[in-house]
Amino acid sequence: MIITLLSNINYSDFKMANYLIKDIINDNYLNEEVILKGWVYRIRGSNKRIFLLLRDPSNIIQCVIEKESDESLYKLAKKITIESSIEISGVVKKDERSPIGYELHIKKLKIIGLAEPFPITKDQSIEYLLDKRHLWLRSRKLISIMKIRSTVLQSAREWFNKNGFIEVSTPMIITAACEGGATLFNLNYFNHKAYLTQSSQLYLEALIYSLGRVYVIAPSFRAEKSRTVRHLTEFWHLEAEQPFCDNEQNMKYQEELIEYIIKSVREINKNELKILNRDKLPEIKKPFPRIKYDEAIETLQKKGVNIMWGNDLGTEEEKILTLNNRLPIFIYNYPKKVKGFYHKPDDNNPEVVNCADLLAPEGHGEIIGGGQRIHDKELLIKRIKEENLDINEYEWYIDLRKYGTVPHSGFGLGVERVIKWICGLDHIRDAIPFPRTINRVYP
Ligand code: ATP
Ligand code: MG
Repeated sequence: MIITLLSNINYSDFKMANYLIKDIINDNYLNEEVILKGWVYRIRGSNKRIFLLLRDPSNIIQCVIEKESDESLYKLAKKITIESSIEISGVVKKDERSPIGYELHIKKLKIIGLAEPFPITKDQSIEYLLDKRHLWLRSRKLISIMKIRSTVLQSAREWFNKNGFIEVSTPMIITAACEGGATLFNLNYFNHKAYLTQSSQLYLEALIYSLGRVYVIAPSFRAEKSRTVRHLTEFWHLEAEQPFCDNEQNMKYQEELIEYIIKSVREINKNELKILNRDKLPEIKKPFPRIKYDEAIETLQKKGVNIMWGNDLGTEEEKILTLNNRLPIFIYNYPKKVKGFYHKPDDNNPEVVNCADLLAPEGHGEIIGGGQRIHDKELLIKRIKEENLDINEYEWYIDLRKYGTVPHSGFGLGVERVIKWICGLDHIRDAIPFPRTINRVYP
């Protein structure tokens, strides 16, 4: 329900201008009357004046109403509750104590939607806040993260477009699994078996034959049963695939992309990084160190970790390897057993594959998985059989090796993993507006 409470002011031209706070906090607007629309973030008052923090998508500004100058306005303002939506007209004044340097002296006020008591207050449990996620998204922290998220996606697209990659779209409903059966979400597709996709890779591989370098930004779904701080069941996956490309060139693309994303966030999101206490996010410059999987295992063993050659690296191991790093690192040549069937075995040692994971520093761990794919038809068929996959479901994928096959490589970047690192988050759930995890699909 929308409640409109009007004070006795003529509103004839009131709705016209549409400023954002960020536009008017400069000396050009000093002593000018401007109109703002937004939500009430905080209210403080005495019997002389009311201070109201107005939040709009761009910032938060303190607004003042003096009882002495307009009593009816003061009375109207008294009715306002936290998170009510309002439209105000006021004069821009300097305010040395304000973090933004300016405040607004309100002349006119219109309450658009009077809010019921806002359920989010201080010191509430994480579970409660997740139940109220639709409202919690108004917090400064989440607003800042979502703005950074937008820059990450935007700048990634920019980088791909500048480097001759074509953006494509791929299906989310599939029948041929990419990353193994354990994390597949089943779907009853008109009485046929289908799945939600874990990765768009196989489809990107089909598209390189017509479009060359391609990329997609789409959700991937994985029924992750273990509770970790870096797994969602629905995450946004930025995947790229390049024809005539080996693992070395593939790593170079990743370095450039990451360097570009970080540079963009550091330039565009200074305020947000500050709010998140992340203004120390360092500049990231290529090349990134490259460490062989064998060497990573030795390092871990020396540090007393109980791990053997042939084991995959998990959250804990990657944390140890990256805790004191300033740059991301590549770990390359993993054993073929811990990687997908499609990875190309190394020419010198077929027990390992020409792949690399990119691990973010400061303990965040894997943000990209990538590598060169098998382009030989017979070898691919052999690997599909070895992994006990249903060869019929991969017929189309094998076809790609029959008609002009080429060496090709690609990678998949977890958008929320990158945001977790950039924003310095403890948990991946805050990197996406409505997180999906093993025990949460609401709201
Ligand atoms: P992990 O070992 O952490 O489970 P993975 O080896 O399964 O990762 P890939 O299959 O290589 O990951 O997927 C490519 C990228 O997608 C990963 O590097 C990561 O950034 C992201 N990713 C994978 N699974 C998830 C998930 N459940 N939630 C969020 N991001 C994910
Ligand atoms: Mg996984």
